[in-house]
Amino acid sequence: MARKIGSRYTAHRILGRGSAGTVWLGSGPEGRVAIKLLREDLAADQELVGRFVHERTALMSLNHPRVVGVRDLVVDGHDLALVMDLVQGSDLRTQLDRHRRLTPADAVRVTADIADALAAAHAAGYVHRDVKPENILLDEASGHALLTDFGVARLIDAPRRGGTGRVVGTPDYVAPEIVEGLPPRAAVDIYALATVLYEALAGFTPFGGGHPGAVLRRHVTEAVAPLPGVPAELWRLVHQCLAKAPASRLRAAELAARLHELHPRLLGVPALDIDEPEPEPVPQEEPPAYEPPPVRGAVPLVRGTAAPDSANRETHTSMRVPGAEELAGGAHGTARTPRAPGQPRAGSARHRAAERRRRVRLTAAATLTAAALGVGGWLAFGGDGDDNGAPPPAVEPDAGPGAPAE
Ligand code: ADP
Repeated sequence: MARKIGSRYTAHRILGRGSAGTVWLGSGPEGRVAIKLLREDLAADQELVGRFVHERTALMSLNHPRVVGVRDLVVDGHDLALVMDLVQGSDLRTQLDRHRRLTPADAVRVTADIADALAAAHAAGYVHRDVKPENILLDEASGHALLTDFGVARLIDAPRRGGTGRVVGTPDYVAPEIVEGLPPRAAVDIYALATVLYEALAGFTPFGGGHPGAVLRRHVTEAVAPLPGVPAELWRLVHQCLAKAPASRLRAAELAARLHELHPRLLGVPALDIDEPEPEPVPQEEPPAYEPPPVRGAVPLVRGTAAPDSANRETHTSMRVPGAEELAGGAHGTARTPRAPGQPRAGSARHRAAERRRRVRLTAAATLTAAALGVGGWLAFGGDGDDNGAPPPAVEPDAGPGAPAE
Protein backbone atom coordinates (compact mmCIF):
# COMPACT_ATOMS: atom_id res chain seq x y z
CA MET A 1 0.00 0.00 0.00
CA ALA A 2 2.46 2.58 -1.24
CA ARG A 3 1.51 6.19 -0.66
CA LYS A 4 2.88 9.36 -2.27
CA ILE A 5 4.25 11.96 0.13
CA GLY A 6 4.65 15.23 -1.72
CA SER A 7 6.13 15.02 -5.20
CA ARG A 8 9.43 13.43 -4.22
CA TYR A 9 8.76 10.66 -1.72
CA THR A 10 6.85 7.40 -1.51
CA ALA A 11 5.92 5.69 1.76
CA HIS A 12 5.99 1.90 1.35
CA ARG A 13 5.26 0.21 4.67
CA ILE A 14 4.90 1.06 8.33
CA LEU A 15 8.02 0.67 10.45
CA GLY A 16 6.56 1.78 13.74
CA ARG A 17 4.08 4.01 15.49
CA GLY A 18 4.81 6.62 18.08
CA SER A 19 3.05 9.35 19.99
CA ALA A 20 3.41 11.91 17.22
CA GLY A 21 2.58 9.74 14.26
CA THR A 22 3.50 6.78 12.11
CA VAL A 23 6.96 6.07 10.74
CA TRP A 24 7.13 4.56 7.25
CA LEU A 25 9.87 2.97 5.23
CA GLY A 26 10.05 5.26 2.23
CA SER A 27 12.06 6.15 -0.81
CA GLY A 28 13.04 9.39 -2.46
CA PRO A 29 15.51 10.83 -4.93
CA GLU A 30 18.44 9.90 -2.64
CA GLY A 31 17.31 6.36 -1.89
CA ARG A 32 15.69 4.80 1.14
CA VAL A 33 14.46 7.03 3.93
CA ALA A 34 12.24 6.91 7.00
CA ILE A 35 9.15 9.10 6.77
CA LYS A 36 7.38 10.22 9.91
CA LEU A 37 3.83 11.13 9.04
CA LEU A 38 2.43 13.27 11.81
CA ARG A 39 -0.88 12.31 13.37
CA GLU A 40 -3.88 13.71 11.54
CA ASP A 41 -4.97 15.93 14.40
CA LEU A 42 -1.48 17.42 14.61
CA ALA A 43 -1.19 17.89 10.84
CA ALA A 44 -4.61 19.62 10.84
CA ASP A 45 -3.39 22.20 13.35
CA GLN A 46 -2.39 25.15 11.15
CA GLU A 47 -0.43 26.82 13.87
CA LEU A 48 1.59 23.69 14.52
CA VAL A 49 2.24 23.19 10.79
CA GLY A 50 3.40 26.80 10.67
CA ARG A 51 5.84 26.17 13.49
CA PHE A 52 7.28 23.15 11.67
CA VAL A 53 7.68 25.12 8.44
CA HIS A 54 9.24 28.02 10.31
CA GLU A 55 11.74 25.69 11.97
CA ARG A 56 12.41 23.63 8.86
CA THR A 57 16.01 24.78 8.56
CA ALA A 58 16.68 24.29 12.25
CA LEU A 59 15.19 20.78 12.16
CA MET A 60 17.47 19.90 9.26
CA SER A 61 20.56 21.60 10.61
CA LEU A 62 21.62 19.14 13.26
CA ASN A 63 24.21 16.94 11.62
CA HIS A 64 25.92 14.50 13.92
CA PRO A 65 26.72 10.79 13.53
CA ARG A 66 24.69 9.94 16.65
CA VAL A 67 21.64 12.00 15.67
CA VAL A 68 19.06 10.69 13.20
CA GLY A 69 19.18 13.40 10.54
CA VAL A 70 16.07 15.15 9.24
CA ARG A 71 16.44 15.50 5.47
CA ASP A 72 13.24 17.20 4.47
CA LEU A 73 9.90 18.49 5.67
CA VAL A 74 6.88 17.92 3.46
CA VAL A 75 3.56 19.69 3.79
CA ASP A 76 1.18 18.17 1.29
CA GLY A 77 -2.58 18.52 1.61
CA HIS A 78 -3.45 16.95 4.95
CA ASP A 79 0.00 15.41 5.36
CA LEU A 80 2.86 16.78 7.40
CA ALA A 81 5.86 14.53 7.05
CA LEU A 82 9.41 14.53 8.32
CA VAL A 83 11.80 12.73 6.01
CA MET A 84 14.63 11.20 8.03
CA ASP A 85 17.70 9.02 7.65
CA LEU A 86 16.64 5.40 7.70
CA VAL A 87 18.06 3.44 10.62
CA GLN A 88 18.10 -0.33 10.21
CA GLY A 89 17.49 -1.95 13.55
CA SER A 90 15.18 -1.58 16.50
CA ASP A 91 14.78 0.98 19.22
CA LEU A 92 15.97 0.64 22.80
CA ARG A 93 12.40 0.16 24.07
CA THR A 94 12.03 -2.94 21.92
CA GLN A 95 15.33 -4.29 23.27
CA LEU A 96 14.31 -3.65 26.86
CA ASP A 97 10.91 -5.24 26.27
CA ARG A 98 12.66 -8.27 24.87
CA HIS A 99 15.60 -8.66 27.29
CA ARG A 100 14.39 -6.59 30.25
CA ARG A 101 17.87 -5.15 30.95
CA LEU A 102 21.29 -4.78 29.37
CA THR A 103 24.71 -5.65 30.73
CA PRO A 104 26.42 -2.65 32.35
CA ALA A 105 28.85 -2.44 29.40
CA ASP A 106 26.04 -2.37 26.83
CA ALA A 107 23.98 0.08 28.86
CA VAL A 108 26.98 2.38 29.13
CA ARG A 109 27.82 2.08 25.43
CA VAL A 110 24.31 3.09 24.38
CA THR A 111 24.19 5.92 26.89
CA ALA A 112 27.64 7.19 25.87
CA ASP A 113 26.49 7.45 22.23
CA ILE A 114 23.40 9.41 23.24
CA ALA A 115 25.46 11.65 25.51
CA ASP A 116 27.64 12.39 22.45
CA ALA A 117 24.51 13.31 20.49
CA LEU A 118 23.30 15.55 23.31
CA ALA A 119 26.70 17.23 23.65
CA ALA A 120 26.54 18.26 19.99
CA ALA A 121 22.91 19.33 20.24
CA HIS A 122 23.37 21.31 23.44
CA ALA A 123 26.42 23.05 21.97
CA ALA A 124 24.23 24.06 19.01
CA GLY A 125 21.56 25.41 21.33
CA TYR A 126 19.04 22.55 21.20
CA VAL A 127 17.40 20.78 24.10
CA HIS A 128 15.76 17.49 23.11
CA ARG A 129 13.19 17.38 25.94
CA ASP A 130 12.00 13.85 25.25
CA VAL A 131 14.95 11.51 25.73
CA LYS A 132 13.54 8.02 26.34
CA PRO A 133 14.16 4.48 25.06
CA GLU A 134 11.57 4.95 22.27
CA ASN A 135 13.68 7.76 20.82
CA ILE A 136 16.95 5.82 20.89
CA LEU A 137 17.45 3.79 17.73
CA LEU A 138 20.02 0.99 17.60
CA ASP A 139 21.74 0.91 14.24
CA GLU A 140 22.53 -2.69 13.34
CA ALA A 141 25.08 -1.73 10.71
CA SER A 142 27.33 0.42 12.91
CA GLY A 143 26.41 -0.98 16.33
CA HIS A 144 25.82 2.58 17.53
CA ALA A 145 22.83 4.15 19.25
CA LEU A 146 21.26 7.22 17.61
CA LEU A 147 18.96 9.82 19.06
CA THR A 148 15.87 10.68 17.05
CA ASP A 149 13.06 13.21 17.22
CA PHE A 150 15.13 16.31 17.83
CA GLY A 151 12.96 19.37 17.94
CA VAL A 152 9.74 17.45 17.44
CA ALA A 153 8.64 17.49 21.08
CA ARG A 154 9.41 21.18 21.34
CA LEU A 155 7.43 22.06 18.21
CA ILE A 156 4.45 19.90 19.04
CA ASP A 157 4.22 21.07 22.60
CA ALA A 158 5.10 24.74 22.20
CA PRO A 159 2.65 27.12 23.89
CA ARG A 160 -0.26 28.03 21.66
CA ARG A 161 -2.19 31.23 21.43
CA GLY A 162 -0.53 32.87 24.39
CA GLY A 163 -0.82 29.82 26.61
CA THR A 164 1.78 29.27 29.24
CA GLY A 165 3.04 26.60 31.55
CA ARG A 166 2.87 23.64 29.17
CA VAL A 167 5.24 20.90 30.08
CA VAL A 168 6.64 18.36 27.68
CA GLY A 169 7.72 14.92 28.61
CA THR A 170 7.10 11.34 29.53
CA PRO A 171 6.42 10.95 33.27
CA ASP A 172 9.16 8.42 33.99
CA TYR A 173 11.83 10.65 32.39
CA VAL A 174 10.66 14.12 33.42
CA ALA A 175 13.20 16.12 35.42
CA PRO A 176 12.08 17.56 38.76
CA GLU A 177 12.57 21.14 37.63
CA ILE A 178 9.96 20.56 34.91
CA VAL A 179 7.50 19.34 37.52
CA GLU A 180 8.25 22.57 39.35
CA GLY A 181 7.29 24.58 36.26
CA LEU A 182 10.74 25.77 35.22
CA PRO A 183 11.59 26.03 31.52
CA PRO A 184 13.50 23.03 30.19
CA ARG A 185 17.25 23.47 29.90
CA ALA A 186 19.99 21.12 28.76
CA ALA A 187 20.10 19.47 32.20
CA VAL A 188 16.64 17.95 31.65
CA ASP A 189 18.12 15.82 28.87
CA ILE A 190 20.88 14.64 31.21
CA TYR A 191 18.32 13.66 33.84
CA ALA A 192 16.28 11.77 31.25
CA LEU A 193 19.38 10.02 29.90
CA ALA A 194 20.44 9.01 33.42
CA THR A 195 16.93 7.59 33.86
CA VAL A 196 17.38 5.60 30.65
CA LEU A 197 20.75 4.32 31.91
CA TYR A 198 19.22 3.32 35.25
CA GLU A 199 16.39 1.56 33.41
CA ALA A 200 18.75 -0.27 31.06
CA LEU A 201 20.72 -1.51 34.08
CA ALA A 202 17.78 -2.32 36.35
CA GLY A 203 14.92 -3.21 34.04
CA PHE A 204 12.71 -0.48 35.53
CA THR A 205 12.93 3.29 35.93
CA PRO A 206 13.91 4.89 39.25
CA PHE A 207 10.64 6.73 39.87
CA GLY A 208 8.17 4.99 37.55
CA GLY A 209 5.16 2.85 38.38
CA GLY A 210 1.55 3.59 39.19
CA HIS A 211 -0.34 6.79 38.67
CA PRO A 212 1.46 9.46 36.58
CA GLY A 213 0.90 12.00 39.37
CA ALA A 214 2.71 9.73 41.78
CA VAL A 215 5.57 9.39 39.31
CA LEU A 216 5.91 13.19 39.14
CA ARG A 217 5.81 13.42 42.91
CA ARG A 218 8.65 10.95 43.26
CA HIS A 219 10.87 12.92 40.88
CA VAL A 220 10.58 15.91 43.19
CA THR A 221 10.58 14.30 46.63
CA GLU A 222 12.23 10.88 46.57
CA ALA A 223 15.89 10.08 46.58
CA VAL A 224 16.92 7.56 43.96
CA ALA A 225 17.28 4.10 45.46
CA PRO A 226 20.69 2.50 44.94
CA LEU A 227 20.89 -0.45 42.60
CA PRO A 228 22.51 -3.41 44.34
CA GLY A 229 25.40 -4.76 42.30
CA VAL A 230 26.11 -1.74 40.08
CA PRO A 231 29.85 -1.00 39.95
CA ALA A 232 30.55 1.97 42.24
CA GLU A 233 32.02 4.24 39.55
CA LEU A 234 29.00 3.72 37.33
CA TRP A 235 26.57 4.29 40.19
CA ARG A 236 28.26 7.62 41.01
CA LEU A 237 27.61 8.82 37.46
CA VAL A 238 23.97 7.68 37.49
CA HIS A 239 23.42 9.23 40.90
CA GLN A 240 25.02 12.55 39.98
CA CYS A 241 23.01 12.87 36.79
CA LEU A 242 19.78 12.14 38.65
CA ALA A 243 20.46 15.01 41.06
CA LYS A 244 17.37 17.08 41.83
CA ALA A 245 19.36 20.30 41.27
CA PRO A 246 20.06 20.73 37.54
CA ALA A 247 23.40 22.44 38.22
CA SER A 248 24.64 19.36 40.08
CA ARG A 249 24.30 17.14 37.01
CA LEU A 250 27.15 16.59 34.58
CA ARG A 251 27.15 18.33 31.22
CA ALA A 252 26.59 16.06 28.23
CA ALA A 253 30.18 16.23 26.97
CA GLU A 254 31.60 15.32 30.35
CA LEU A 255 29.08 12.54 30.85
CA ALA A 256 29.97 11.14 27.41
CA ALA A 257 33.70 11.26 28.19
CA ARG A 258 33.23 9.52 31.57
CA LEU A 259 31.01 6.81 30.08
CA HIS A 260 33.41 6.10 27.20
CA GLU A 261 36.26 5.89 29.68
CA LEU A 262 34.32 3.53 31.95
CA HIS A 263 33.08 1.20 29.22
CA PRO A 264 36.15 -1.08 28.83
CA ARG A 265 36.27 -1.71 32.58
CA LEU A 266 32.70 -3.00 32.55
CA LEU A 267 33.20 -5.64 29.86
CA GLY A 268 32.34 -9.05 31.29
CA VAL A 269 30.28 -7.66 34.20
CA PRO A 270 26.97 -9.57 34.14
CA ALA A 271 23.56 -7.92 33.97
CA LEU A 272 22.06 -7.15 37.38
CA ASP A 273 19.84 -9.63 39.16
CA ILE A 274 17.42 -7.54 41.18
CA ASP A 275 13.69 -7.39 41.76
CA GLU A 276 11.49 -4.51 40.72
CA PRO A 277 10.07 -2.60 43.71
CA GLU A 278 6.55 -3.44 44.81
CA PRO A 279 3.86 -1.44 43.00
CA GLU A 280 2.30 1.25 45.14
CA PRO A 281 -1.18 0.50 46.48
CA VAL A 282 -3.87 2.24 44.44
CA PRO A 283 -4.85 5.39 46.35
CA GLN A 284 -8.35 5.38 47.89
CA GLU A 285 -9.32 8.94 47.03
CA GLU A 286 -7.97 9.34 43.52
CA PRO A 287 -9.85 12.01 41.56
CA PRO A 288 -12.12 10.18 39.09
CA ALA A 289 -10.82 12.11 36.07
CA TYR A 290 -7.43 10.39 36.22
CA GLU A 291 -8.02 6.79 35.32
CA PRO A 292 -4.82 4.78 35.49
CA PRO A 293 -3.59 4.40 31.91
CA PRO A 294 -3.68 0.97 30.27
CA VAL A 295 0.08 0.99 29.83
CA ARG A 296 2.44 2.53 32.36
CA GLY A 297 2.74 6.23 31.62
CA ALA A 298 0.55 5.95 28.54
CA VAL A 299 -1.97 8.76 28.30
CA PRO A 300 -2.92 11.00 25.40
CA LEU A 301 -0.61 13.84 24.42
CA VAL A 302 -3.43 16.21 23.69
CA ARG A 303 -6.37 16.10 26.02
CA GLY A 304 -9.65 15.47 24.31
CA THR A 305 -8.28 13.95 21.13
CA ALA A 306 -9.31 10.60 19.75
CA ALA A 307 -7.99 7.55 21.56
CA PRO A 308 -4.57 6.64 20.24
CA ASP A 309 -4.16 3.79 17.86
CA SER A 310 -3.79 0.62 19.89
CA ALA A 311 -0.44 -0.04 18.29
CA ASN A 312 0.84 3.32 19.48
CA ARG A 313 3.31 3.43 22.27
CA GLU A 314 1.98 6.71 23.53
CA THR A 315 4.07 7.97 26.38
CA HIS A 316 3.42 11.66 26.70
CA THR A 317 1.11 12.77 29.41
CA SER A 318 -1.29 15.42 30.57
CA MET A 319 -1.58 15.91 34.27
CA ARG A 320 -1.70 18.24 37.19
CA VAL A 321 1.05 18.99 39.65
CA PRO A 322 0.73 16.55 42.55
CA GLY A 323 -1.04 18.05 45.55
CA ALA A 324 0.63 18.73 48.88
CA GLU A 325 -0.65 15.47 50.34
CA GLU A 326 0.56 13.47 47.36
CA LEU A 327 3.94 15.15 47.58
CA ALA A 328 4.05 14.26 51.24
CA GLY A 329 3.65 10.60 50.38
CA GLY A 330 0.41 10.19 52.33
CA ALA A 331 -1.06 6.73 52.09
CA HIS A 332 0.85 5.89 48.96
CA GLY A 333 4.41 7.05 49.49
CA THR A 334 5.92 3.59 49.12
CA ALA A 335 9.67 3.55 48.92
CA ARG A 336 10.59 2.04 45.57
CA THR A 337 13.80 0.47 46.71
CA PRO A 338 14.92 -2.39 44.51
CA ARG A 339 15.43 -5.57 46.50
CA ALA A 340 18.38 -7.82 46.05
CA PRO A 341 16.90 -11.32 45.82
CA GLY A 342 16.22 -12.60 49.37
CA GLN A 343 15.70 -9.21 51.02
CA PRO A 344 12.49 -8.74 53.09
CA ARG A 345 9.48 -7.84 51.00
CA ALA A 346 7.58 -4.65 51.43
CA GLY A 347 4.95 -5.03 54.14
CA SER A 348 7.10 -6.97 56.61
CA ALA A 349 7.39 -5.55 60.18
CA ARG A 350 10.94 -4.36 59.50
CA HIS A 351 9.87 -2.78 56.26
CA ARG A 352 6.89 -1.05 57.88
CA ALA A 353 9.05 0.47 60.66
CA ALA A 354 11.52 1.83 58.12
CA GLU A 355 8.61 3.05 56.05
CA ARG A 356 7.19 5.03 58.99
CA ARG A 357 10.56 6.72 59.55
CA ARG A 358 10.85 7.48 55.86
CA ARG A 359 7.39 9.04 55.74
CA VAL A 360 8.20 11.39 58.59
CA ARG A 361 11.25 12.56 56.65
CA LEU A 362 9.31 12.77 53.37
CA THR A 363 6.46 14.72 54.92
CA ALA A 364 8.88 17.35 56.18
CA ALA A 365 10.64 17.55 52.81
CA ALA A 366 7.42 17.62 50.84
CA THR A 367 5.83 20.25 53.01
CA LEU A 368 8.76 22.48 52.14
CA THR A 369 8.55 21.52 48.47
CA ALA A 370 4.83 22.06 48.33
CA ALA A 371 5.18 25.44 49.94
CA ALA A 372 7.90 26.37 47.48
CA LEU A 373 5.88 25.21 44.49
CA GLY A 374 2.57 26.68 45.45
CA VAL A 375 1.20 23.37 44.24
CA GLY A 376 -2.29 22.65 42.98
CA GLY A 377 -2.24 24.12 39.49
CA TRP A 378 -2.28 22.08 36.32
CA LEU A 379 0.74 21.23 34.33
CA ALA A 380 -0.88 21.64 30.95
CA PHE A 381 0.74 19.09 28.70
CA GLY A 382 -1.66 19.63 25.88
CA GLY A 383 -5.09 20.68 24.78
CA ASP A 384 -6.15 24.05 23.52
CA GLY A 385 -7.45 26.35 26.15
CA ASP A 386 -6.10 24.15 28.89
CA ASP A 387 -3.08 26.25 29.54
CA ASN A 388 -4.29 27.38 32.85
CA GLY A 389 -1.20 26.44 34.80
CA ALA A 390 0.85 29.09 36.49
CA PRO A 391 3.16 30.85 34.06
CA PRO A 392 6.76 29.75 34.29
CA PRO A 393 8.72 31.90 36.69
CA ALA A 394 10.80 34.69 35.23
CA VAL A 395 13.92 33.41 36.92
CA GLU A 396 16.11 31.08 34.93
CA PRO A 397 16.79 27.63 36.34
CA ASP A 398 20.28 27.08 37.63
CA ALA A 399 21.43 25.26 34.55
CA GLY A 400 24.78 26.99 34.86
CA PRO A 401 26.90 28.65 32.25
CA GLY A 402 26.98 27.09 28.84
CA ALA A 403 23.50 25.64 29.12
CA PRO A 404 21.83 26.66 25.92
CA ALA A 405 18.84 28.87 25.73
CA GLU A 406 16.09 27.14 23.85
P1 ADP B 1 7.18 9.18 18.09
O1 ADP B 1 8.32 10.08 18.37
O2 ADP B 1 6.10 9.78 17.29
O3 ADP B 1 6.70 8.53 19.36
P2 ADP B 1 9.12 7.42 17.07
O4 ADP B 1 10.08 8.40 16.52
O5 ADP B 1 9.46 6.81 18.39
O6 ADP B 1 7.69 8.01 17.15
O7 ADP B 1 8.94 6.28 16.01
C1 ADP B 1 8.17 5.12 16.21
C2 ADP B 1 8.95 3.91 15.73
O8 ADP B 1 9.28 4.06 14.34
C3 ADP B 1 10.28 3.73 16.42
O9 ADP B 1 10.16 3.02 17.61
C4 ADP B 1 11.08 2.98 15.38
O10 ADP B 1 10.78 1.61 15.45
C5 ADP B 1 10.57 3.53 14.08
N1 ADP B 1 11.45 4.60 13.58
C6 ADP B 1 11.42 5.90 13.94
N2 ADP B 1 12.35 6.60 13.28
C7 ADP B 1 12.99 5.73 12.48
C8 ADP B 1 14.07 5.85 11.54
N3 ADP B 1 14.66 7.04 11.30
N4 ADP B 1 14.48 4.73 10.89
C9 ADP B 1 13.88 3.56 11.15
N5 ADP B 1 12.87 3.37 12.02
C10 ADP B 1 12.41 4.45 12.68
